[in-house]
Amino acid sequence: MTIHSYGERYSNFQCPNCGAYYVPYAKHINCPKCGKNESRESEFIGLAVTSLRHNMKKWKSYMAKAWFKGCFSDHMLYLVFFVFEAFVQKGEKTEFENFVSEEIASIDFEDQEYLRKHLLEMVLDIRKEMSERKRGWFRWF
Ligand SMILES: [Zn+2]
Repeated sequence: MTIHSYGERYSNFQCPNCGAYYVPYAKHINCPKCGKNESRESEFIGLAVTSLRHNMKKWKSYMAKAWFKGCFSDHMLYLVFFVFEAFVQKGEKTEFENFVSEEIASIDFEDQEYLRKHLLEMVLDIRKEMSERKRGWFRWF
């Protein structure tokens, strides 16, 4: 079993202004392509944290062993898994933001270059949420 984001509000969200796909996971997130703000807020960050935690518990890896990309936000979630797992494998002794910036720089986004910055912002916000929860009752790493 894996924890997906399909069915979640805005899981296939497209900017009404320019048509770009992105995840409006917080009200301050602007369209990464045209900059328009839609002031929407999905549950994506919390769901990503839960999904990462689930993968780590089940497979001792942030990567899901099998992943069906049923919607755009699942596609982004897969990239999130990839970046977090790369950090565990290669970067844990280094500074998180520098490491993930470099890792994300190596991803081929084809004709969706605007997603590079979107993924980085998303990964940093997920990391922040993880460290906030870490101060609670469970540990991540
Ligand atoms: Zn747009």
